[in-house]
Amino acid sequence: MSEGVRVDRFKALLVEKQGEDTSVRVRLLAENELPEGDVLIGVDYSSLNYKDGMVLAGHPKIVTHYPHVPGVDLAGRVLESDSDDFRPGDAVLLTGWGVGERHWGGFSQRARVRSEWLVHIPQGLDSKRVMIIGSAGLTAMLCVMTLEDAGIRPDSGPVVVTGAAGGVGSLAVLLLSQLGYQVAAVTGRASTHAFLRELGATLLLSREEMSRPPRPLESQRWAGGIDVVGGVMLARLLAETKYGGTVAATGLAGDAMLTTSVMPFILRNVGLRGTESVTTPRLLRQTAWSRLSALLPPDSFQQISKIISLEEVAEAAGAILAGRIRGRVLVDPNR
Ligand code: NDP
Repeated sequence: MSEGVRVDRFKALLVEKQGEDTSVRVRLLAENELPEGDVLIGVDYSSLNYKDGMVLAGHPKIVTHYPHVPGVDLAGRVLESDSDDFRPGDAVLLTGWGVGERHWGGFSQRARVRSEWLVHIPQGLDSKRVMIIGSAGLTAMLCVMTLEDAGIRPDSGPVVVTGAAGGVGSLAVLLLSQLGYQVAAVTGRASTHAFLRELGATLLLSREEMSRPPRPLESQRWAGGIDVVGGVMLARLLAETKYGGTVAATGLAGDAMLTTSVMPFILRNVGLRGTESVTTPRLLRQTAWSRLSALLPPDSFQQISKIISLEEVAEAAGAILAGRIRGRVLVDPNR
């Protein structure tokens, strides 16, 4: 790929930092300003994730260099490639690998990335649908696979999902219900109850109720759990998990700390399994994407998402940090 040959200018959301001040604005850039990589992509869609909210807020320790283009997810078409695995015109997607953190991300009409981070868009999906799923959906699928791996089956009993109206949570509710699990959804927003029921939740629990500090062991309620919140809520899930059950922990939307006792582990054989989607090996990623393609009903994509432009990202980023986003927010850089 010859750098600097293309002179097209394109729109990107640029985060700049001066001392403690973070500024965010849409700028016109040239392709030779993009970081190094062996594949150039024309981005169709990106999506907004919790981590993007943290990056736009100037959270220390995520972004290493400024100016920076955020966006941990992207999907589009290959424009140029030096890799044998991808050819111009290929439909590709990227989630994780530090893109949007250490490397410029998807809130841009163009992205230059490393081919080993890319996945071909699976049959049955397109760039819009894979971005509605995005990092959040991939993470939700991996959490479901973590529970399956621990032997939790639909007939094992109910599975509880926290932060249920958010990105990871809403997709976890949908995937579990598609697989035949009985799903309990924990949310802090009563206004999302109808939405969560439509996704398949049969039991709705309040954030307040599930944020009460637990005793070392509580009544056994859950065969499994998917937790994006951390802190006291995760401690409660563990104390309420049935003998032999497992909780997949993947987020810290409430608290990065966990204070619990060993009782659920040593008296009930409860398992706590971490699940991450940033550096998941390619084979496991492809399996998860194929399963997402097979499991998600076509009419669920619209139901779970809304689309915004680059100009609207900063406001939406504040909303995701405040826990005010319902489902998934798709970013269209070409709007
Ligand atoms: P969202 O903001 O879309 O969803 C988070 C949800 O958590 C909110 O919608 C809200 O749900 C709930 N919530 C927010 N604040 C609190 C609080 N203080 N106490 C209790 N519940 C709260 O974010 P995502 O779904 O994109 O991400 C969720 C978490 O998962 C984040 O911490 C993110 O960093 C993490 N994550 C981790 C990944 C990994 O690889 N490990 C990959 C992707 C995400 P409700 O309104 O229903 O109460």
